[in-house]
Order: sequence, then structure tokens, then C-alpha cells
Amino acid sequence: MNQKKNNNKYNWNMVFFLTVIPLIGIFGTSIYVYHNGIVWQEPILLLIFWFVSGMGITMGYHRLFAHKSFKTNSFVEWILMISGSLAFENTILKWVSDHRKHHNLSDTKDDPYSIMEGFWHAHIGWILKNTSEEQSKIKAVKDLESKSAIKFQNKYYFHIGIIIGFILPLIVGLIYNRPFGAVLWAGFLRVTLVHHATFFINSLCHYVGKRPYDYKSSARDSWFVSLFTFGEGYHNYHHTFQWDYRNGVKWFSFDPSKWIIKLLSFVGITYDLRETKEYLIWKNHINSIKDQLNEIHNKSTQNCKQFYQNKIDLLQKNIDNIFSSWDEMEKKYNNLKNTDPVNFKNIIKKLKTNRKKYMQELKEIKSVLNSIKFNINKNYLDPNLIVEGSYK
Ligand SMILES: [Zn+2]
Ligand SMILES: [Zn+2]
Repeated sequence: MNQKKNNNKYNWNMVFFLTVIPLIGIFGTSIYVYHNGIVWQEPILLLIFWFVSGMGITMGYHRLFAHKSFKTNSFVEWILMISGSLAFENTILKWVSDHRKHHNLSDTKDDPYSIMEGFWHAHIGWILKNTSEEQSKIKAVKDLESKSAIKFQNKYYFHIGIIIGFILPLIVGLIYNRPFGAVLWAGFLRVTLVHHATFFINSLCHYVGKRPYDYKSSARDSWFVSLFTFGEGYHNYHHTFQWDYRNGVKWFSFDPSKWIIKLLSFVGITYDLRETKEYLIWKNHINSIKDQLNEIHNKSTQNCKQFYQNKIDLLQKNIDNIFSSWDEMEKKYNNLKNTDPVNFKNIIKKLKTNRKKYMQELKEIKSVLNSIKFNINKNYLDPNLIVEGSYK
């Protein structure tokens, strides 16, 4: 899939494959179903191959190899490499190189799938277009090059994808006498679904949804996209804390990749799971609401500006106070954890209680910030809104 620099805008090989695969996947499968019906094995095969290849991308390519958000043994690295190869989203090294650029150069023109170039470009256009030699160079992946699974994949990427992603379903299909049906469902239709699910993270998740952790980023949180991407839809969180093994940070956020990584850690298969501290998550969350409020406030009427400015300033002071106390407390406890682990165990309860207290105070501030936002939008000066500088 090396793209040579030439004067053509499009890489016609890519255009051909990314058009033919969905055409066969959607229309071929539909025609087959029309003539031959559906047997239970076929949707099941689709789900199994979708799960395996999808998890290979999210848990393997993305969270393990690109972000190193957890560690595992080389056997699991091999499993994830093989699973990810079935998705036909290029080798780990190329995928990770592009993805690390996407994070480091996010919202600039140098981001390979920059949303600044439009929805279509971010979704699939960037794969179909020819890029300069410089842009298509694999960079910043030295940490991965020596891994045995990756070395093997560099030699046999297509072989793995074809043999396990297409020939294996064909063999399974032979067992129940519908090899063609099995390849259509678990091969072509499944690859189409995996591709466009991943592509939607780059397009839709930079287009629609909320920005609860970084209002200035184009990345958005979308629970809907998470439903068909094994949890990758919480993209605003992910761009803010890319090293975190979770994308859906709340316990109820649909993130099967997070659950599997966590479950495997209980038996030692995964370890060193990286999590963002609650303190930092809250800090970013409140800052994001503040940024949004400031934007609305700056555009509001003179009356609104005057009425709410002092209240917003006072809230900011309260926010600063809470975070400086919380930060101090975390540092103190962290020191104790390293120097006096026995004593640390005794006061961990107090630490948790204090954290809860800070969170409670921040929740109250958040609700005031949100009501100010609401009032400014309605151009309403609320006489009952009193902000006190009482948090310390
Ligand atoms: Zn992104
Ligand atoms: Zn990422």
C-alpha cells in the first residue's frame, strides 16, 4: 500500500478496493440472501469476525500499540496483531504512525485525517488520495519496530488478512455447505462494517457530539459511535487523555475494549493499565464548561456581560481554590504512599472522603456555570443567582 508520489490526486488501487469491497459486501450479500435466504451461521460468523477484527484494531492497534495505555505479554500482542490484520487497515506501523500524527498535529493541516479538510477527507478521502513521499513516511514508531509480532506482520500482513479473514470463513462455510455465503457475510460485509466504523471515529467523532473535556478540540464524545466501535466513540475524552486505557471513562459508558482490558488485568494478562487521575479529569471538565461559557458570555449583550462577569470571576476563584487544595492533598498522599505505605493504608479512607467532598463542590459549581450559560442564552438576568466565595 505504499503510495508513490505522482500527479494523480487519487490512488486508484485504493479507490478500487474501497469501492469493490463495500459493493460486494452490501449488494453481493443482499443478492445472495435474496436468492438463498439466511442461515443462523452467517450472522453469527459476521459477529465473531467483526468482534475479532474490531477488537484487534481498538484494543491492539489503538490502545496497546499506538498509545501504550496498558502492557501485555507477547503472546497477546501476536493475537492482537493477527486479529487487527483481518480488518485490512494497513500494518500496525503505518496505522500507528498516522494515528500518532493525528493526535500530535490534531486540528492542523498536517494531521493525516484532519477534519479541517472536511468530513469526507477525514472519513475516507485521506486514504484514497495520494500523499507526498514525506507525508506517507512511517515515523515515530521506533518503540514498536523490534516486537516479534510486528516484524512478522511487516512480512505477511496480506497473507494473514486473506487466509484468516477470507479463506477461514470459506472453510467454515464448506462445513455447512454455503462457502460463498460465509465469505460474503464474514469477509466482505464484515470488512465493510469494520472499515466504516473506524472511519466514523475520524469523521463523525470530529463533527458531532459534546466536548466535555476539551472545548477547543474538534474531537467529540459520541455514545452512539461507541456502540459499533467497541467503545471508541468517546473521542473528546480520548484526545484529552490519549494514554488512558479507557475511552468511555464513566462506569456506564459503553466501552467493551475497556472492560476486556480490565478483566484481563485481574488474571495478570494485561498490566500497568494507565488511568487519568480523577482530579485531572475534573479539572479539564470544568475548564471545558468555562471555555464554552466564556464564548457565549463574550458574544452576549452588554447587560448580560455586566451582570454575570463578577459571578463568573468569583466562580473561577472558587474553582482555583478547590483545585489548589485538591492538588496539594494528592501530592501529600502520594508522598506518603511512597515513604510510609502502612500509614497510607490507614488514611486512604480520609483521602477518598476528601475527594468526594471536592467533587461535590465541583458539581455544585458546574450546575451554577450551566445555569449561567442557560440564562445568557436566554438573555435573562436571574435575580436569584447568588454566587458565594465559600469554597476553601
Ligand atoms: Zn481523533
Ligand atoms: Zn488515539
